[in-house]
Amino acid sequence: MPKARRALKQMRRAVGVTTAEHIATGLVEGQHLAGPLRVYKEESAADSLASMPPAEIAACMVREIHVVDPHREARAVGVALPGIIRCGVVEESPNLHQLKGAHMQDLISKALQEAGILAPVAVFNDADVMSAGLAATRGLLDQQIRVWTLGNGIGFGVYPWREGVWEGGHIVVSLDPRERYCGCGGTGHLEGVMGNRAMRLRFLDLEPDEIFENARQGDPRCADFVKLWHRALAAGTASSVHMAGSGKFFICGFNARHLDLNLLNQYLHEMVKMSPLQGYVLEVVPGGDEIGVVGAAVNALRAVFPD
Ligand SMILES: [Zn+2]
Repeated sequence: MPKARRALKQMRRAVGVTTAEHIATGLVEGQHLAGPLRVYKEESAADSLASMPPAEIAACMVREIHVVDPHREARAVGVALPGIIRCGVVEESPNLHQLKGAHMQDLISKALQEAGILAPVAVFNDADVMSAGLAATRGLLDQQIRVWTLGNGIGFGVYPWREGVWEGGHIVVSLDPRERYCGCGGTGHLEGVMGNRAMRLRFLDLEPDEIFENARQGDPRCADFVKLWHRALAAGTASSVHMAGSGKFFICGFNARHLDLNLLNQYLHEMVKMSPLQGYVLEVVPGGDEIGVVGAAVNALRAVFPD
């Protein structure tokens, strides 16, 4: 490959890192992985990351970054973390409590420098990164993209990244004071209806999959709840449409398989009546580590090289 072309390609390389139950890392070029996706898992599985101190998580990420980018081609490192992330600081992190207040951008930068890696680091919310990854892998980088992630909690991500909190999972969708199943403790929240943890609290005798199955078989209590579940997502989406306009909404996460898009669209149609706002499009898509890693890298390059 001619030298100039190789240099241009390397300009577009960045490392993406996501943190959910495990740490996934990859070297990204343009909108694709430029090498294998690495997944770091501790032997004791899910709760190990939750008990790791912030500096140790940073050190672990740096070891992974070194493995995926041994020739130090990355011009930026993008890291996705759950929670409210502002200016490199984790302000709130319901899933990784020990990160609350940690300046992860500094911790990771320092650990990288100690390892001789000078690429700048940018830290983002994990749903924002999923939004960027879906935009990148579907050729939609010139559009406004929003994503709902339906898992234990409810994530909401926006692309292009912009300053703000965007805790859409905690948007208020009910004024009923009995609606208090949200993981954050707030009443009436979207996550308090849709989150997997919240569904288990509401139906102490049923797992979420059983609730949807019973609803299909005509159980009235479950059927009513499944309608509420769809109305809640329609309400959250309608609020976003009324604040930021219509556009593309992706829905992913393990509970997205329970979604009836026709029902969701029907409720949304009842909630959004102004004609300039009716151009929204909802699509259920698979998420996954690879899309997150690509999104983290894309967001990092855009943050480090805004032009
Ligand atoms: Zn909440």
